[in-house]
Amino acid sequence: MHLNRVLKYAAHGWARPFFNIILDTVFPAKCLVCNRLFKPDGIRAGMGRPANAAAEITDTFAQSHRLLAAYCCPDCVSSFAAISSPICSCCGIMFKSRQGQDHLCGDCITQPKEFRTARAAVAYDHQLMAVVHRFKYAGKIQLAGPLGGLMLNAYKRFWDREEVDLILPVPLHNAKFRKRGFNQSYLLIRRWKSISAPMVDKVVGIPVNTDILIRSKATVSQTGLGRQQRLKNIKGAFRVKIPEKVIAKKVLLVDDVYTTGATVNECARVLLKAGAERVDVLTVARAM
Ligand SMILES: [Zn+2]
Ligand SMILES: [Zn+2]
Repeated sequence: MHLNRVLKYAAHGWARPFFNIILDTVFPAKCLVCNRLFKPDGIRAGMGRPANAAAEITDTFAQSHRLLAAYCCPDCVSSFAAISSPICSCCGIMFKSRQGQDHLCGDCITQPKEFRTARAAVAYDHQLMAVVHRFKYAGKIQLAGPLGGLMLNAYKRFWDREEVDLILPVPLHNAKFRKRGFNQSYLLIRRWKSISAPMVDKVVGIPVNTDILIRSKATVSQTGLGRQQRLKNIKGAFRVKIPEKVIAKKVLLVDDVYTTGATVNECARVLLKAGAERVDVLTVARAM
């Protein structure tokens, strides 16, 4: 963790504002996207504290932006774009035309998906890709707080509590889990229950399970593969280990990024085959 942040957590009460000004001057934060040094306004406002970052979240996208402001410079934070209608009513892709209602995209018409709806918080652009890569591949797991916050806002926008019985993070294969040390999808939702904002009612009580759906086949990374290769690569990769726990359940699958949807669609296929009533998908970001 950045020394600046560590020292700021240590400061309390009246001393904190003075302490922060001195620390921001001596140890500015480094933007995770562009590497530029900046004054982390989010931290000064008490928003960047990883241990309770989620507790700061309320129900506006702007406040999720502020959570990321502890890690990214103002220019990069302002570039994160929320998903907004019109979008595909199934896969959630934003249409180029910013006019009209949500409707099915051509891809979902020609190749119907196994899941019911997929929704994401933000568009997967260059800036967000940098943040997600730091989170997944560079061990910046404190980003699970703000990224999970973005996801929770999306959950609140697109689902009602009664619409979900069970939350399942997309699993990693055991070998990959051991190598990485964590499942990023699980980290993104792990702290949801500690949220003290009004949206707490929407998520408390929905079980999160990491044992029901497993990845039984080690696959090469989907990154860099074309659509057909992705489908072939992921086919048969998942297994429902405890089928009785998904029967008649409305499942919400969570993952970090939706690219072609091949991974979540394959998860949805095996879950429906095992008896799930329906499967929805929530991700932090959506490739456009
Ligand atoms: Zn930046
Ligand atoms: Zn679609």
